Amino acid sequence: MSTSNDSKPCRVAVVGAGLVGTLNAIYFAQRGWHVDLFELRKDMRLPEVKATQRGKSINLALSERGLSALRNSGLDLDNLILEAAVPLHARMVHTTAGLQMSQAYGKKDQHINAVDRARLNEELLTIAEEFSNINIHFEHNLMKADLDKGELQFFTGTGNPEKTYHTDFLVGADGAYSRTRTQLMRRIRMYYEQEYIDTAYCELTMLPIKNKNGEDEFALDPHHLHIWPRHTFMLIALPNPDKTFTCTLFMPFGMFDELNTKELVLDFFKREFKDSVPLIGEEKLVEEYFNNPRGSLITIKCKPYHYQDRAVIIGDAAHAMVPFYGQGMNCGFQDVQVLHSILDKHGVKAKLSADGKIHGLHQAMEEYSKERSEDAHAICDLAMYNHYEMRSAVTSPLYLARKKLEAV
Ligand code: FAD
Repeated sequence: MSTSNDSKPCRVAVVGAGLVGTLNAIYFAQRGWHVDLFELRKDMRLPEVKATQRGKSINLALSERGLSALRNSGLDLDNLILEAAVPLHARMVHTTAGLQMSQAYGKKDQHINAVDRARLNEELLTIAEEFSNINIHFEHNLMKADLDKGELQFFTGTGNPEKTYHTDFLVGADGAYSRTRTQLMRRIRMYYEQEYIDTAYCELTMLPIKNKNGEDEFALDPHHLHIWPRHTFMLIALPNPDKTFTCTLFMPFGMFDELNTKELVLDFFKREFKDSVPLIGEEKLVEEYFNNPRGSLITIKCKPYHYQDRAVIIGDAAHAMVPFYGQGMNCGFQDVQVLHSILDKHGVKAKLSADGKIHGLHQAMEEYSKERSEDAHAICDLAMYNHYEMRSAVTSPLYLARKKLEAV
């Protein structure tokens, strides 16, 4: 029997056009759903927006976990992103004396990739925009969601600032401080835990140096993730395609507060990371140390991730983690791949059924929440452990002996 619902495509509202939300919008569009992608900020591709982005997690390590989700989109997204990536085969440990020790990540042909966060997000947005069944709404801040009715209220900040949209299914990809998650918590008995670590981070830039032909050259070996592990704090550096390095100083909040004059900062850097100082440059180092934002680091674990067949959270909204395992985005991309493989498994279609429902979706969400929360909680724990490994364990004699054996 045919009813008017037979021909209606399912509608999904994806909240958050960051890395994970935008990839998810592309996956849903390919399933034939109608997608509304909402983002609280302005379009990051606008020149005036680009000019204001300063010192905020500029580059990221993209690993096989994330690449697989890009590849699985069927749009060659992995190759598009890898075009401008720098392969990292090993970490380079810098000692206090200024010596460097290379520690391979895996076998010779294995590597992770340093990618530019903004470029990755911009490429995904541009691809999303090419789909006729995706509408992107910038400057839409989700305020409230009536999950049973599928009614979403946004604040747009212009003209008539409050707008209401309707959807069949809501996906919250709105980051660690997710409002979608807060709305879910009002409807379900969600297990929730969060932990801030006593470490802040601040990004610094290492510009290229000139080679003997006067051309720009990376200041350090570009195929390594460089770390200066000092037990309670550390500096790391990841290369960018423009031959700069983005350095990140991870340090307890109290130490940031104590290092409060130009002289103290320079003394500290010359004592602890002395080979980095001439490469960053004293003036630039001090300017960025005092003016770039300082971020805090949070782990969030929760479950379940869904409410019936009405809503689900993915990416940092579901599982924010400390960045030391380089897996936050990778894990969020994998969420998208896993979510859609489970939708396939349950035969979830692109059209509403005669009763106005999306058949199989509720069961699919049950399975997704169960499977994914176990994996995500494990990755959160590994990320926390890797904080210790990167800032401390990599310098222990036992660790170095093991690495030597692995290299044989
Ligand atoms: P976000 O990137 O937080 O995006 C959420 C989006 O939702 C934003 O665009 C936001 O504006 C929007 N939004 C929020 N609230 C609303 C609302 N109410 N209405 C509408 N829109 C809203 N991960 C890796 O895999 N590899 C790395 O090397 C790595 N390095 C890192 C280094 C640092 C210093 C940090 C802090 C993180 C790092 N991560 C890394 C983690 C990675 O940045 C995150 O896991 C990833 O950005 C999560 O993506 P997301 O799309 O889920 O959330």
